[in-house]
Amino acid sequence: MLGLMQDWPLTVDRILDHAHSWFPKREVVTRSLEGPISRTTYGNIWRRAKQVTNALQGEGIALGDRVATLAWNTERHMEVWYGAMGMGAVLHTVNPRLHPEQIAWIINHAEGKILFLDTTFVPIIEKIAGELRTVKAYVILTDRAHMPSTALANAMAYEDFIEGHAQEARWGGFDENTACGLCYTSGTTGDPKGVLYSHRSNLLHAMAANSADCFGAGANDVVLPVVPMFHANAWAIAFVAPMCGAKLVMPGAKLDGPSVYELLESEKVTFTAAVPTVWLMLLNYLRETNSKLTTLKRVAIGGSAVPEAVLRAFEDDYGVEVVHAWGMTEMSPIGTIGKLLPEHYAQGHEAQIKAKLKQGRALFTVDMKIVDDEGHDKPRDGKAFGRLMVKGPAVARAYFKNAGARDAKGECLEADGFFDTGDVATLDELGVMQITDRAKDVIKSGGEWISSIDIENIAVGCEGVANAAVIGVAHPKWDERPLLIIEPKPGANPTKEQVLAFLEGKIAKWWTPDDVVHTEKIPLGATGKINKLALRETFRDYRLPNV
Ligand code: ADP
Repeated sequence: MLGLMQDWPLTVDRILDHAHSWFPKREVVTRSLEGPISRTTYGNIWRRAKQVTNALQGEGIALGDRVATLAWNTERHMEVWYGAMGMGAVLHTVNPRLHPEQIAWIINHAEGKILFLDTTFVPIIEKIAGELRTVKAYVILTDRAHMPSTALANAMAYEDFIEGHAQEARWGGFDENTACGLCYTSGTTGDPKGVLYSHRSNLLHAMAANSADCFGAGANDVVLPVVPMFHANAWAIAFVAPMCGAKLVMPGAKLDGPSVYELLESEKVTFTAAVPTVWLMLLNYLRETNSKLTTLKRVAIGGSAVPEAVLRAFEDDYGVEVVHAWGMTEMSPIGTIGKLLPEHYAQGHEAQIKAKLKQGRALFTVDMKIVDDEGHDKPRDGKAFGRLMVKGPAVARAYFKNAGARDAKGECLEADGFFDTGDVATLDELGVMQITDRAKDVIKSGGEWISSIDIENIAVGCEGVANAAVIGVAHPKWDERPLLIIEPKPGANPTKEQVLAFLEGKIAKWWTPDDVVHTEKIPLGATGKINKLALRETFRDYRLPNV
């Protein structure tokens, strides 16, 4: 027997429709690429997104066609986002921090038909335009007055592209499982793989992501997604903010400490989100200038583990609650959330800090377990490590064009339908998960595993250390031993002895790195995470001192 409720497909155009109906005047503020702060509303974004739909249809874009963007978080990016998704085209965000060759590979693989790009990325695309086989037109996200002179054929200014088009267009009307967005994983090993979100998966994920124990944003919040829309949908914030009617603040291209701080204060931001690197920059700026955060209440941090120093600074020094989140592109992206439980609140402050450093518990819609190499469940005792497996309606079951397929159906799942995250984790008695490493980064020493992440997070708290990375290097007896690579703060020179003394007592003795070396700059990948592959390459010929 079927239920007798209305048929209301879960398509994301409804999100902006809702904002247009109920929050038409709520502001969307952008630090524009042209320079000034610009102000618009959800009502205007809705009208201009409709113009985008009509302009796209005028270019021959139809249901299922890929529309690519190479763009920062701005109001125009939002318009293209909803204008494309609303009509059933697939919005394909491309990460501009990738190598140009990879950008070309991804756009070709996705078969993007039209590319919207910010002025800052015109030089990159000019270099690779000859290789882009499917792109028929380039729309530069600016007006005629700011249009750069460009060698790109078929380039036009965004304002010209939408001008004159009607502000009404039909959205939705297709199955909720229709593809909606396409985002490629960074491809640190092998070619990047495309994750193809559906309308239903994005909508369900956004609702889960904004539940009270996760982002918990509402119409009284001012939300600043520093995390880019090209990094796994800005962690759903481009959906969440219009859904709940929050004022939205878009940082454009400037993600440095002073620029982010200026927006946080001038726009009275209450909730923001980004990877730890962004927060390290902000916190440094706050300390240098002796500034305060006067309106910020919560900060979501994810993409890599929250360093203890960052957690303590936000919570203890600035009175801002840290919401630690874990996830991945394949999970839309949020999987777990680090909000504390009553059992944690019954403990002291230090125990709570320790709990918050863990990645958290499963969001509703996410099923999760840890298993050994044979697929047997490992205990939830907070000690046993295992491969972290997930399942849910916003978790990928296959990659675009069946990349990485493991079965005849083209799916990439284990036999029991779980997706292997590639992470290694523990689960404790309260169900709180802690990432101990990426499966490929974990250091295998004497048959036991050492977590590179744990050591890194402690090492960044040592005086004079700006950033730290741990990689495994070959050892004749132990197989691998940890090497700690330090990026010193400007003018500082933390010695091996000082750093090792700082780690003492904070990690198991046998985890102690066999050596500590300095590097000028720890390489970061396209989503702001430490690029271990590059480090392993740099230290390929390195030999441990006592070997
Ligand atoms: P990519 O895989 O392209 O680097 P993702 O953003 O999808 O980009 O990265 C997902 C991975 O990032 C996770 O599998 C995990 O290893 C790591 N990660 C994400 N959030 C956290 C976190 N809070 N703590 C530790 N690792 C994290």
